Order: sequence, then C-alpha cells, then structure tokens
Amino acid sequence: MENLTMEKVVNYAKNYGFIFQGSEIYGGLSNSWDYGPLGTMLKENIRNFWKQKFITENKLNYGLDAAIIMNPNVWIASGHVASFADPLIDCKKCKARHRADHLISEFTKGKETADGWSNEKIEKYITDNKVVCPTCKKSDFTPVRKFNLLFETKIGVVDESKSTVYLRGETAQGIFVNFKNVERAMRAKIPFGICQTGKAFRNEVTPGNFIFRTREFEQMELEFFCKPGTDLEWFKYWKDYCINFLYLIGLDKEKLRFRDHTKEELSFYSKATTDIEYLYPMGWGELWGIADRTDYDLTVHEKHSRKDLHYLDPETHEKYLPYVVEPSIGLDRLFLAVICNAYNEETLDNGDTRELLKINYNLAPYKINVLPLIKKLHNEKAEELFNMLSKKFPISYDESGSIGKRYRRADAIGTPFCITVDDETLNNNTVTIRNRDTTKQDIVNIDDIISYIEEQICV
Ligand code: ATP
Repeated sequence: MENLTMEKVVNYAKNYGFIFQGSEIYGGLSNSWDYGPLGTMLKENIRNFWKQKFITENKLNYGLDAAIIMNPNVWIASGHVASFADPLIDCKKCKARHRADHLISEFTKGKETADGWSNEKIEKYITDNKVVCPTCKKSDFTPVRKFNLLFETKIGVVDESKSTVYLRGETAQGIFVNFKNVERAMRAKIPFGICQTGKAFRNEVTPGNFIFRTREFEQMELEFFCKPGTDLEWFKYWKDYCINFLYLIGLDKEKLRFRDHTKEELSFYSKATTDIEYLYPMGWGELWGIADRTDYDLTVHEKHSRKDLHYLDPETHEKYLPYVVEPSIGLDRLFLAVICNAYNEETLDNGDTRELLKINYNLAPYKINVLPLIKKLHNEKAEELFNMLSKKFPISYDESGSIGKRYRRADAIGTPFCITVDDETLNNNTVTIRNRDTTKQDIVNIDDIISYIEEQICV
C-alpha cells in the first residue's frame, strides 16, 4: 500500500493478534515484542517456507539446532568478545544516544554508510561535515566509544568470573563448531551447507522501528562450505537463490535491491559481501546479509579448539579448510517485510472498504475460514466440515456477525478461502468457496473441497 506508515503496521499487528508489546501490563520493556496467536502461526510458516526451500528442496544442505548458550571460548575464538561492537555517540546538548555510523548514513541519506570505519574516521567526518543530531539539530557530540553487543550471563550457582557465558549473538557459530560432526554423521561431501534457525541476542545501541531492530530476534542462517577457489561462484549461486526466494515468498521486486559492500566496508576476511535490502515504510533496510567469509571461521576455531577441522577430499586426497558462503536473514525482519508488502486497503465494487492481507497462500495463518450462513440452521453441518478440514489444514471457524463482516475479518488476516455452509449444503452437499483476492465465489461439492484447496496452495 502507498504511504503505509509504521504506526499503521504496529496497530494492525496488535489489533489482529500478530504482535503485542512485550510485558505490556507492566508498562512494557522498550523494544520487546510478543508474537500473538496469528503472529506465531505466520512466523512458523515463514520459517517453514525457508526450511523447505533451503533444506528439504535443496539436496546440498542439512539442518541443525544448536544450543543458545555455548562454551564461552566459542565467542572468544570468533572475535565477538573482543570486537563485536557498535560505535556509540551521545549528543552533548540533548543527551540523545546514537549509533555513530547510522548518524552518518541518515545525515547523507544513505550516500555514506560508515560501516567498518574507525572511531577516528567517524569523528573526523562528523566534525568536517557538521553532522547534526537528528533530535535537536545541534552538532556537539561526545567522542565515539565502542559498545560490545554480547549479552553476558552467569552459569551455575557460583558467581565468579569463570562462570560468565554469553547468549549467542548469532546462530552461525553453532554451525561452525558442528562442521565436523555433520560432515562425519551425514557422510557429507564438499560442497555442502548447514542451516539453522533460532534466537540471537544483541544489546543493540539503538533498537527500534518495531521488530526491525530488537535485542532478541531470530535468524535463519546457512553456512555453505565449499572448496577454496569455488567460493565466488557459490556466492553468486546463493545471491540468486536468496533473491528468488524473496520473489517466491511474494515480496515486490521493486521493493528489493542488492547493496554490495565497498572494499572499505568489507570485513578483513571477506572477499565479497552484499546486503539484500527491502523498502520498509521507514526506508531501505538490510534484510539479508550474504558474505563470502573465506576460511576465517574454521581457521579461528581450529586454532582455539586445537581440533583439526580440515576436510579430506575422498577423491583427490587433498586436505584443506573449506571456504564459507553465508546467507543470513532475520526472521523478524522478513516477517515485517511480508506484512508491509501484503497489507492493503481496498474499495470494493459495492463501495465497501476492506483491509486485506494479500499474503502468499502458503504463509497465511489460516488457509480456510468456515462460516455457517445462519448459526441455528447451519451450525451442525459447518462443525462437521470444520472437523473434517482441520485435520488437513489450519482453519478457523466464525459464526458471529453478518456474513459480510465475517468475510472482512478473514480478508484482514489473509485467509485465502471462506467456505460458507448454507441450505444448499444440507440439500445438495455443496458449499460456496470465496476467494480472498478476487472475491469470486465457486460452488464446490464437499467431497472435492480438499483437492480444490490443495491445487491452489501448493508452492
Ligand atoms: P545491521 O547492520 O542492521 O545491524 P548486521 O549487518 O549487524 O545488521 P548481521 O550480523 O549480518 O546483521 O545479521 C544477519 C541478519 O540478522 C540481518 O541481515 C538482519 O536481517 C538480522 N538482524 C541483525 N540484527 C538484528 C536485530 N537487532 N534485530 C532484528 N534482526 C536483526
């Protein structure tokens, strides 16, 4: 929808049970959100869509579900303890706190990204270009400080420094430490990938924009292990795979773009990195990071764990550390993109307006809404139908209010089909099936409902 605002999205998500403010009855906790009944269904459908495309339908990849709390040496080896930090800057005038790199990219409207710049370079840029605080419009800042994003906690009953552990800052490290296990157990041959979805935690300096940037979020990551020298081909393969996934899930092509990282922005170990950005109501934002990470991760884990993580090619007998291509997407950011992309307000032929979540059928929380036309007369048959269809599809049942109101409610949450039970059902064993997008209605025999629906919702 044109001119969709984030405020509208937040209200919509709350009203229909997609997302509530976290700990709301206690006044909330800033930037924490709870997924409601429909939100959990939609989120799981998005996750399953990703798993289907990246694991089930791609024979190169395997799944994994590693622990959130890992041996702290993992995070020392990966470099997170020493340098997983964002540049923080405070406005001396109004005390607003900013991420210094974001300050520059906002000020230059995205022309400069400042990703990977040193503190000194950021400070010089801010002074030379008189970058102002977005809150008070003054240009008077503290020096830039680095702020580590890892959440610390303690394990066990004794409160001493040895018991410090971290909530994982990304799901990727659980994959790297299991590289050899998966290779061995699955008799996997390079190239192959390991996929994982789950929670990650970052003590973000400036969380915000609803679920776009939170301190607790979910990632869906693939670490793809390949022979050195083939990595750039695989980088291209996964770039194409990821963008096609986003088209398939239903995001508009014109709201997606690649942003290749410049040499200056690239991490020292990366040969190539690109972000897929989506045009959210607040502007373009990173949705998916895709990086050629060379053999950096396996090298550091080999060094710190003192375990051999090399791969022995069974055919050529070459021994090498595989290179890694990593496509990493935030599940919550994809959820937000899916909702923003699908939300619409439409005027119907009869002049009525309706809210419509024009979502991919596979993602819809409920596939079908069963409606008895007149509660007293058609309830029994409708319940029979509900019992039959609910074994096959996630479906809802709505018997209150006028039929028009019930259609509106189903449209607003993206239910593709409304099935109305009326006198014809009792007399002729047929129902009326209304399509969410076209509002067209078909008369279908009860025995044919399942195949009618299945034909239309398969990917
Ligand atoms: P950003 O530059 O926006 O902070 P990043 O480059 O640090 O993101 P990555 O470390 O590449 O992000 O993480 C991979 C993906 O995880 C991102 O593309 C994004 O979709 C998601 N993600 C990262 N941080 C957050 C967060 N705080 N809240 C929600 N999703 C996040």
